[in-house]
Parts: sequence; structure tokens; C-alpha cells
Amino acid sequence: MPTSVPVKKAKAVATPDVPHGLGMDSSAVRRRMVEKLTAQGLSDALVQKAMGAVERHRFVDSGLVNQAYEDTSLPIGLGQTISKPSVVARMIELLRKGVDGRMGRVLEIGTGCGYQAAVLSHLATEVYSIERLRGLHDKARDNLRPFRLSTVHLLFGDGMVGYAAGAPYAAIIAAAGGDAIPQAWIDQLAVGGRLVAPVWGKPGGKGAATTAQALVVLDKTPQGVRQTVLEAVHFVPLKSGVA
Ligand code: SAH
Repeated sequence: MPTSVPVKKAKAVATPDVPHGLGMDSSAVRRRMVEKLTAQGLSDALVQKAMGAVERHRFVDSGLVNQAYEDTSLPIGLGQTISKPSVVARMIELLRKGVDGRMGRVLEIGTGCGYQAAVLSHLATEVYSIERLRGLHDKARDNLRPFRLSTVHLLFGDGMVGYAAGAPYAAIIAAAGGDAIPQAWIDQLAVGGRLVAPVWGKPGGKGAATTAQALVVLDKTPQGVRQTVLEAVHFVPLKSGVA
């Protein structure tokens, strides 16, 4: 009879390579970040938990690691930025609309460095994330690899047309702002689903001279589409085509 050799179970150990400047345990820094977000109005416990779990410092360049838990957007290359933690939290809180449990399939337009996709993976059954810049699509893949997130699907392409193969989506979130919400996104949103996106508009009405970008929440109901315009935001432009 073959003897069975007992296999020693590897113990879970704390990540050894926490970058300099963050101290021994980056979870304490994240906890403080979440406390600040909560003081500013973040009340969704699941979003608080997800923001506390994802190591934002792993998504920024080594020279910016010390700023990773400040509430600021940071450059990620190719003229793009990782969104501020408060904006990521706010948009996902809106997207979840206080519903208990995980969202179903979520579509993200603008993968960037992959940070928001990682946060979403804690809150959705599947995440489809599209990026139009090859360099950032590759960067996000490298950044996300160590997390082994089997439910995150990174796609290279023009997110203006959405991703029909994954539709219908329970939720759609855009990290880049255009002049209007593309019809493809609305078509690919499930009835009962919600979309959150930055959109350029004229706060002073149609004839007004000034334009501003604001967060728009769109609900797709059996009766039709309902849009709500919320606070001003500053996102990089939504562009068509790939590069
Ligand atoms: N969620 C990202 C934010 C990245 S910034 C993060 O956590 O880092 C927004 C991204 O949207 C940029 O990388 C930009 O290249 C991308 N983008 C702009 N227009 C796009 C389009 N039509 N399709 C896909 N990605 C687009």
C-alpha cells in the first residue's frame, strides 16, 4: 500500500512586499482612508469593506506609492489617471443603490490601471472591463494578475459600443466622460439595472455658454429610462476607437 505523505499546509502570511513609506501593514492606512470616506458620507458597508480590501498602492507607479491612500487622482501613464478613492466609492455606492448582496454582471468602461475593476470584483458576480488603450489594458492585466480574480474579464476595445457578449448587465459604470450616454450602454443594461457615468452638459440650460461635467445616474425601468444629474466631477474624456 502506498504511504501517504502528509502535505504541510502553507500558512497564509502577510504580504511581504509592502512598499517603503507605507510601513509594515498597509491595511491600517487603508482603514484610515475608509474612515475618512465614511466621515465624508460613504455609508454602504459593502463598499467600505471593498475599499478597505483593495491595495490601491499596487496600482500606481512606485514613485507615487506614498500618495496611494490620499484622496487624489494620480497619473497612470498615457495621459490617464486613476480616479480618486472618494469618487470610486461614491460611484459604486450609487451603482449598488443600497441593495443587499452582490450585484450581477457589471460592465466598466475605462479599465485604466485596473483599480476600480478590483474594487468591483468584491461587489459583483462578474466584472467586464473595457479599455481602449493597449498600453493600459496590458498594465491592468499585470496589476491584477497577483490578485487572481477569476471573475474579472479585461477586454481591449472601444467601450463606446459596450460589450454586447456580456449583456444584459445589472450595472454599468464609466470612468471617462462623453457628451452623452451612448445608446449601446442603455441597450446593454438590464431592465431594473443602473448606469453611473460622468457626462458633459450645460448646467445653465441648453443656450448656456458654460459646459460642465456631472455625474449622471440612469435607471432602466419597465416604463423607460430615468436620468438624474448629480454633482460636478472631473474625468478624462471618453474617446472612440482604440490606440
Ligand atoms: N477605472 C480606472 C480609471 C481610468 S481613467 C482606474 O481605476 O484606474 C479612464 C480610462 O478610460 C482611461 O484609461 C481611458 O483610456 C479609458 N477610455 C476612454 N474612452 C474609452 C473608450 N471609448 N473605451 C474604453 N476605454 C476608454
